[in-house]
Amino acid sequence: MPLSDWSQVTRPIPVPNEWTKPFWESAKQGVLALQHCQACGHFQHPPYATCVQCMSIDLTFEPVAGLGTIYAYSIMYHAGDKRFAAALPYASIIVELDAAPGALLAGNLLEVPYTEAKVGRRVEVVFEPLNDDITLPQFRLLHAQA
Ligand SMILES: [Zn+2]
Repeated sequence: MPLSDWSQVTRPIPVPNEWTKPFWESAKQGVLALQHCQACGHFQHPPYATCVQCMSIDLTFEPVAGLGTIYAYSIMYHAGDKRFAAALPYASIIVELDAAPGALLAGNLLEVPYTEAKVGRRVEVVFEPLNDDITLPQFRLLHAQA
């Protein structure tokens, strides 16, 4: 099974806004930082102005370990965005982090054939610099010792 070829893909560059800026600033340093509600302890992603659980505005970004489990995935066979055409087919995954239950991160599963994307598989974050400002958190499988 061939690997998805990301080498020919020029990714759209995310544009940080008021709420997501701390997330991207941390990612640039190789740190995953998620919004953490100081009132109820809920982690959420993507960032919002208020906690989705308790509506508190007392939210801070805290670094979390980049280990998690595939919560959902989809295999992309057609590119809605033509910039991704060269990588088809590829796996887009939703990851629930061990350290931040409830927060779901979207990314691509890198370094393995897309058929390796399965719900429940263990993954770790890898940081893919897109340019000088934006580094994209992505994922790869955590391999058990063979
Ligand atoms: Zn809360």
